[in-house]
Amino acid sequence: MSRVRAYIGLGANVGDARRTLADAVAALSALPGVRRRGVSRLYVTRPVGVEDQPDFHNAVVALDVPAGPDLATGAIELLVALKAIERDFGRRRRERWGPRELDLDLLLFGRARLAVERPPAAIPASAALDPGAAARLLEVPHPQLHDRLFVLAPLADLAPRLVPPGWHETVESARRRRELKEGPGAIRAVGFWEEPYATWLGPSGGPIEIRRAGPDDADDVARTHTGAAQAAYARIAPPDRGGLDRRTKLWREILPDPSNRTWIAVDGDLIVGLLNIGSFRDHPEAGAVRTLYVLQGWWGSGAGQRLMDLAHAELARDFDHALLTVLAANARARRFYERNGWELVETLVEPHFGGALTEVCRYSRRLR
Ligand code: ATP
Ligand code: MG
Ligand code: MG
Repeated sequence: MSRVRAYIGLGANVGDARRTLADAVAALSALPGVRRRGVSRLYVTRPVGVEDQPDFHNAVVALDVPAGPDLATGAIELLVALKAIERDFGRRRRERWGPRELDLDLLLFGRARLAVERPPAAIPASAALDPGAAARLLEVPHPQLHDRLFVLAPLADLAPRLVPPGWHETVESARRRRELKEGPGAIRAVGFWEEPYATWLGPSGGPIEIRRAGPDDADDVARTHTGAAQAAYARIAPPDRGGLDRRTKLWREILPDPSNRTWIAVDGDLIVGLLNIGSFRDHPEAGAVRTLYVLQGWWGSGAGQRLMDLAHAELARDFDHALLTVLAANARARRFYERNGWELVETLVEPHFGGALTEVCRYSRRLR
C-alpha cells in the first residue's frame, strides 16, 4: 500500500486539554493503515480571534496514511476520520474559533494542493453562521497554516526544513517570521512527548527532589530510562522497539537487590532522572557511572548535574577513580561529562542495539 506523510494540527481548550490531546494522539495512531511518525512538543497558546476564553493547548502529529486511489480521495477520507474523532471526543457545534474539546485540522497531505468544494446538498444549516468554512470541504495545505504560530511552532519541531507545496520558504523560516510578529510570549512549549508515559511531560515549576530508588519505583524508572534514552539516541541509533519491556525487567531485578545504588530525581510525582553506580564490570577496582539519564524536558534543569555530583561523592567513598562508557555519537552527553572532569581514555567498537557494531567512548575520572 502506498502511503503519504500527513501532518495533523491538534488543539483543545476545554477540560483537561493535555489529557484530551494525548488521547487524541492514541486515536490518530489507531486509525486503519496509519503509522505514527512523530509527535511535536506541547504548546500553550493565547487564544486568537475570540480572546475571552481559556488558553489553548496545541501540538502537531506526523502520520503516514494510505494514499487512497488518488490524493484528493485519500485526503478527504482522512478528514472524515478526523471529524469522527472530534465527535467521539465530544466536540460540540459552537462558534468558530471559540472554545472546543478537540480540533483536528489537516495541515499537509504529502505534496497535495487541494481545494475541494462541498456538494451543495451537504452544506449544513449552520452555514449561515460561517458560510466560508461551511462551503469549503477541504483545503490543503491548510489555508491558515502560514499565519499561525501555534501551528508553525509544533510543525517546525517535526519538519523544520519542509517547504509545503505552494510555499516559497521552509516551515522554520515561516515560524521565525511569525514569532517576530506575535512576540515571544504568544506561545510557550510546556512538554515533550514521552512515549513510555503516552503523554507530554515538562517541569512543574516546583522543586526537584533527589532520593534513593526503591523496588516500587522499578516500572517508572524503566519508563523514564526508556523515554530519556529515546530522546538522547533519536538521531544516532536505530529505534529500540523492545526497550521498555527490557528495561522494566532489568529494573525489577536491580532495585530489590540491597546492594544496588540507584537514585532518582523526582518532580512532583514524576521520576525525571535516574543514576546507577557501582564497580566497573571489567575493572572492579574502578567505580562506574553505569546509568545517568534525564527526561528531555528537564535537560538543563540542574537535575542531571545534581545526579552527577552525587555520583562523584558516593563513588569517592569506595574508589580512587571511576570509568564510564558513552556512545561516541552522543555529543551532548560527552560534553556534559567533559565539563564534569571526565577524560576520554579510549574509543572502542562494541555490539549494541541488537548486535550492531557501535563506537563507544570510555571516560575516566579521579575521585580523590
Ligand atoms: P480553522 O480551519 O480556521 O482552524 P476550525 O478548525 O475552527 O477553523 P472547524 O470548525 O474545525 O474550523 O471546521 C471548519 C470546516 O473547515 C470543516 O467543515 C472542514 O470541512 C473545513 N476544512 C477545510 N479544510 C480543512 C482542513 N485542511 N482541515 C480541517 N478542516 C478543514
Ligand atoms: Mg482549527
Ligand atoms: Mg478544525
